[in-house]
Amino acid sequence: MATNVILARMGEVTLKGLNRGRFETQLMGNLRYRLRVFGKLSIFQKQSRIWIEAKDEDNPYFADEDSAKELMIAVSQVFGIVSVSLARKFEGDINDIDSNAEAYVKHHLENNPKHRSFKVECKRGNKKFPLNSPMICEEVGGYILEHFPNLTVDVHEPDFILNVEVREFNYVYAGRIQGHRGLPVGTAHKGMLLLSGGIDSPVAGYMMASRGMPIDAVYFHSYPYTSEQAKQKVIDLAKIVSRFSGRMNLYIVDFTKIQLDMVKNSPHDMLTIVMRRVMLQIAEQLALKADCKCLITGESLGQVASQTLEAIAITNEVVDMPILRPLIGMDKEATIEVSRNIGAFETSILPFEDCCTIFVAKHPKTHPKHSDIEEAEKNLDIEAMVKQGVEEGLEVITI
Ligand code: ATP
Ligand code: MG
Repeated sequence: MATNVILARMGEVTLKGLNRGRFETQLMGNLRYRLRVFGKLSIFQKQSRIWIEAKDEDNPYFADEDSAKELMIAVSQVFGIVSVSLARKFEGDINDIDSNAEAYVKHHLENNPKHRSFKVECKRGNKKFPLNSPMICEEVGGYILEHFPNLTVDVHEPDFILNVEVREFNYVYAGRIQGHRGLPVGTAHKGMLLLSGGIDSPVAGYMMASRGMPIDAVYFHSYPYTSEQAKQKVIDLAKIVSRFSGRMNLYIVDFTKIQLDMVKNSPHDMLTIVMRRVMLQIAEQLALKADCKCLITGESLGQVASQTLEAIAITNEVVDMPILRPLIGMDKEATIEVSRNIGAFETSILPFEDCCTIFVAKHPKTHPKHSDIEEAEKNLDIEAMVKQGVEEGLEVITI
């Protein structure tokens, strides 16, 4: 009897030399956590591969390719996995391999009706098996050609590769979905993401998580100038990022009074930069308490007035923590592509205003000097603002 199993391949993790054990343990732990909602599973690792099997025969996620899709996508979203396949697992001799390959190909062609050519690739781990790899390839290839007269063999550019593996058990599979690669979350220190409702910051969080960084997030909310829906949108985006980054705390800072104070007491062409500096200081205080070692923003060089090099330098001055800006050299189109790929784009473009867009000046200073910022902050009690942001009306949501 054959059962369906999932085969996941590890990427960069396997290059980790002495640290490899730590990275693999983290990856396995993250997988177990991510897959906890898919029934009782047995998840084990052999060399650079991970095998996932159902403990209960009637686990619906293993019934066929369609039912397995959700589970396979979840596996592909765990950083450290490069690709995922659904394989058919069975015992027996070359005749069993032939018949299981036939059943697999039949199903494969139902899902991929345009496929016309194939080739067989074989790995033989069980050296007691009477046929060697080339012999298995030839036998199975011939059998498939005989049973599917519309198919031809193409060893250079086949429409699909039929993989056969002969180990303790036998496996056949074709095709794979791409994983999100990267390093397992938890292998780097935690970072604090400044998460707005836009396109960029969720992508920035995703990118840092892909380097092994767990994420907490902070959102500056200016109710009623920014609506309840704007806040909900940020919560939804945090949920999307957390599919990849794991559990996170989302800090929602009550920013209304602070922002009104700025609007009243500093020149409008400097408002965005003043606001940015205060945001970063509040974020740094929260980051220290949450044991985060850096701040993360979605800034990209030159995208808007507050993202020129001068403006970035002036905002950097007020915090000691490193500020990571993974999108700094990225084109907007490329960012949108990632945003779509992680399922954030549709939420990011919902039309709810951001606190920065409401109070921005028509002509912000693009090349601020030091004297400009000193002048702009002269009538503000920044320390009190930061204290207020951290202490008053702070809401924390665990996601
Ligand atoms: P995004 O698409 O992430 O909103 P953006 O291109 O709109 O970015 P800005 O609005 O200038 O750029 O914001 C730059 C960065 O500052 C954002 O990527 C985000 O990290 C942070 N930020 C801006 N507004 C907020 C906010 N209300 N709460 C938390 N972080 C914010
Ligand atoms: Mg924005």
